[in-house]
Amino acid sequence: MSDAKTMKNAMEIALLGAAIPPAFMALRFVQGQKQAEAVWQASQYPKLGDIGSVKNLSILPLIDWRTASDELEGEPGVSYLIRADDTTILFDMGLNRDFKHPSPLLRNMEKLGISFDEIDMIFISHNHLDHVGGMQHVKDGIFGPSAGYVNLHQAPAYAPVPIVNPSATTIVVEEPTVLAPGIASMAPIPRQLFFLGWTPEQSLAINVAGKGIVLIIGCGHPTIQRIITRKEMLFDEPLYGVIGGLHFPVTASRSVRHGIPAQQYFGTGRWPWDHITRADVHEAISFLYRRDPKVVSLSPHDSCDWSLTAFQDAFGSRYVDLMVGKEIEI
Ligand SMILES: [Zn+2]
Ligand SMILES: [Zn+2]
Repeated sequence: MSDAKTMKNAMEIALLGAAIPPAFMALRFVQGQKQAEAVWQASQYPKLGDIGSVKNLSILPLIDWRTASDELEGEPGVSYLIRADDTTILFDMGLNRDFKHPSPLLRNMEKLGISFDEIDMIFISHNHLDHVGGMQHVKDGIFGPSAGYVNLHQAPAYAPVPIVNPSATTIVVEEPTVLAPGIASMAPIPRQLFFLGWTPEQSLAINVAGKGIVLIIGCGHPTIQRIITRKEMLFDEPLYGVIGGLHFPVTASRSVRHGIPAQQYFGTGRWPWDHITRADVHEAISFLYRRDPKVVSLSPHDSCDWSLTAFQDAFGSRYVDLMVGKEIEI
């Protein structure tokens, strides 16, 4: 074989090698999308019936992008303390980007006077680094509030996939499940994301007496339309509130890695070049608006300022800013 031909073959092999990961990802993406659609179509659940109700509900963001004071730390991640009558829930574990101990979550908890002794259960919306407490935890199949050991007192931890923590008791949620009187998981809804892969995400539904269902959402990957459709399948009560992440990084991304606006590319459930648009946000707002919710609070951890303003403009006095340290009382 001539040198020139050997060189050409080597180049072709190199080019092929570079193309294989994207080709593999594209195939995985198309197959995963089909699979997610099939799971969604097959997930026909009966009404949950009388799940009970709570009289008092409050949501205190412990980690999110915006903070109510300079003393508290913000990150593009989620951790909320939910107090529903006698049940206190830790919803997600934050990002802990630098994987420190104590983490920003622990430091904020200390400043807000919250202890792990008060937490009755843990709810993990989905297995992404900004919700399970860091990239290292994702790699290890763990969720955790910090890089070092924290005693979670063997609290039950409801998760959509089998991730663990040495001091908690994981229960993998596969179908709609009542977790305590008036409190339910609506079961995971899967979405295939181009880079991040198969992503089942569950949302929490809390029935507030005389008001209706309050939804607490992690990243909103399944889309708000599907999350609300699932709520309408499970409950007769009206939708009272929607609080949490809906993934609308239209004009900017909170998380930028190697100069890439990560959220605009990574969490959308679409091809990487097919970004979330203003029209998508308006469509979601009008879908939500027709349900007439009385409290709407969009997490800034995965939505840009433009989207936050769009929600605020649409819902007016029913819109509540979501900030670390500012309790939302229902
Ligand atoms: Zn996510
Ligand atoms: Zn998120």
